[in-house]
Amino acid sequence: MKLFYDFHIHSCLSPCGDEESTPNNIVNMALIKGLNVIALSDHNTGKNCPAAIAVGKKNGLVVLPAMELTTSEDIHVLCLFERYEDLQKLEERLQKTRFRIKNKPEIFGRQRILNENDEVIGEEEDLLIVSSGISVEEVAALVEGFGGIAVPAHVDKAANSVIAVLGAFDYGLGFKLVECAHETDVNLPRIVDSDAHYLWDISEAEHSIEAETCSAHGVFAALKKLCGD
Ligand SMILES: [Zn+2]
Ligand SMILES: [Zn+2]
Repeated sequence: MKLFYDFHIHSCLSPCGDEESTPNNIVNMALIKGLNVIALSDHNTGKNCPAAIAVGKKNGLVVLPAMELTTSEDIHVLCLFERYEDLQKLEERLQKTRFRIKNKPEIFGRQRILNENDEVIGEEEDLLIVSSGISVEEVAALVEGFGGIAVPAHVDKAANSVIAVLGAFDYGLGFKLVECAHETDVNLPRIVDSDAHYLWDISEAEHSIEAETCSAHGVFAALKKLCGD
C-alpha cells in the first residue's frame, strides 16, 4: 500500500521548535495534511516520541521514533527507528558524549517534554542543538547496530549537511539513503521530508512509500527495503 510520509518533524522539545508543536498538534496536523506516517525527530533526543506515538495510535497515524543527531563535525543525521527502546539506547550513548551546555531558554527557546495530553512533564536543561561526540564516520554503523537507519539530513542545504561540511558525499561512510528536497547527484535512494519546526510546515501528502502494512513495522521494513537491506 502507498503511505504518505514526513519523516522529519520537530516538536517543542527542540529549542528551535515552535511551542505549538505539541504531540497532539503535530499528529492532528499530519492527519489534516493526509499523511499516514510521520517520524518525530528532535535534535539529539527522542523524549517526546512516546507521547507522539501514543497520540498517533489513538488517532490512526503511524509515528516512528526518531532523532536528528548532530555529529561531532556538526552534521545532521536523521536516525529512524521502529521501536522506541532502540532509540533510547542511541540516546543513552549520545548523552555520554554530548557537550553539557545549559540551555538559555530566553535565547534558544524552551525544551519541553510533554505527555500524551500535551501536559509538560519535564524540561531538558542542557542545550540540545550542540554537537555530540559521535563522528560521521561511526554514526551509520552505530545506529544500525541499535536497529535503526541513519540518513544524512537535508544534504542539499548549506548548513549542517554532510556535503556542506565535508565538501562532497563520501560513500565510504556507510549511508544507504539520503534526505534531500531536490534531485541530487548523490547516487542513493532519497526521501523527502519537511524538517518542520512549525505545524504549518509539515508536508502535504506528496511523498509516499510502498509498504506491506500501515504500521511502524511495515513502514520500517519498507525503509529497509529502500536501503537495499
Ligand atoms: Zn537539520
Ligand atoms: Zn531538523
